[in-house]
Order: sequence, then C-alpha cells, then structure tokens
Amino acid sequence: MIELTTLYKKLLDIYGPQNWWPADTPFEVLVGAILTQNTAWRNVEKAIQNLKKQGFLEPATLVSLPLKAIEEAIKPSGFYKLKAKRLIEASKAFIKLWPGNHLTVSELRKELLKVHGIGPETADSIILYAFEKPTFVIDAYTRRLFARLGYFESENIPYDVVKRFVESRIPKDLKIYKEFHALIVEHAKRFCRKSPMCYDCPLLECPKKDFTTGNTTLDQPSKASS
Ligand code: SF4
Repeated sequence: MIELTTLYKKLLDIYGPQNWWPADTPFEVLVGAILTQNTAWRNVEKAIQNLKKQGFLEPATLVSLPLKAIEEAIKPSGFYKLKAKRLIEASKAFIKLWPGNHLTVSELRKELLKVHGIGPETADSIILYAFEKPTFVIDAYTRRLFARLGYFESENIPYDVVKRFVESRIPKDLKIYKEFHALIVEHAKRFCRKSPMCYDCPLLECPKKDFTTGNTTLDQPSKASS
C-alpha cells in the first residue's frame, strides 16, 4: 500500500502546486466554503462574482444587508435561502474570531462548529485556507480515494477517523496540508471519479489500477465536474 507521504509527493509531481484556495481574501474563502456546500464550484464562482459586483464581499457589509439582497446575489449557488442565513451567521463569527492569532486550531474549530451550518469539513476549510492554520480537510473525494487505495474498507468512515489518519502520518505543515487536500481534489476530478478512469490514471501504485474503465488525458480542465 502506498504510504501517505509518498502519495502526497506523487500527486505533487503529477499535478504540480495547486496554490489553493481560489480567493482574493480570507473572507472570500469563508464565503466560498459556505456556498460550495452541495454544489459545483462553477456555481459558487457565479455567486461570488455577484457578491463582488455589488460590493457585498466584506464581513461588516454582509451582516448589515437585508436577507433578500444576499439571497438574490447567491442564487446561482443553489439552496440560496438556507445559505444566505448561514452566510450571515458565519460572517458574524468571522468578525468575532478574525484573525484568530489568540486561538489554537482546536479552539478556533470549536467556535466555528458552534455556527449553524458549519460542519467539520467547512470549519476545517475555513481554518486551513482563511485563518491559515494547519488542520486537514476531509471531503468525499478524500474518502473515495482513500478507500480505493486500501487505507479504509469503505468510504463511510467517520470524518474524525480519516482526519486523524492523515494528521498522524504527514508533517503538521500548513503548506503541505493546503496542497495535499487540493491535490486530492484535483486527482479525484480528473481520474478518480465516481466511475474511475483507471486505464489512464497516473497513480500506478493504486491496487485498482487493473480496472479498464474509461479514458482521459491530463489536458482536461481542472474544474471538470466529478
Ligand atoms: S487507479 Fe483508479 S481507483 Fe486508483 S487512484 Fe487511479 S482512478 Fe482511482
């Protein structure tokens, strides 16, 4: 079975640095982390553009807006009524916690998890990419890849178990945590999809490599849907 540190190095060799998160400010990271719940990133981009165009992408501005104005701007991201409420609550938390220098990762995580609509994945994304503190983000792509690589028997492993598995095996380094998560997402979108493209997959160490489903190339756009 490929070691986790080797997996990281391999993915980095294959895809190069991803330089995540795609956002101009830490607050934009938080907004993106909320809006990306249950939707594709291309829809989030449209919603963020709307917020930017209207000058809404500031925490103090966002919390002062009528709910309807936020709902209208973020409509492309889906579940917009729910997400508008979540954005307001998350923005209030951001105002209270930023820049978070006085808080440890676990203190910050605890505070974010108190916010309605922020679960472990969203909290860890915000901590890692907005507050820039090392905590590993686990998502469906990570679970899928790790199950196929044989780290776990299935994809239905509790969040904290997978998180501990990673954090106990790779150095607690902000840059590595940021890159590794982004590289896993990239690999899952290009090759390790729901229907895996194993035939052309460059991860030769994978025990599933003898699959012969599908075909693809490394030239596909990075934001291709999974
Ligand atoms: S060989 Fe198949 S299952 Fe393994 S990582 Fe590649 S795409 Fe995923």
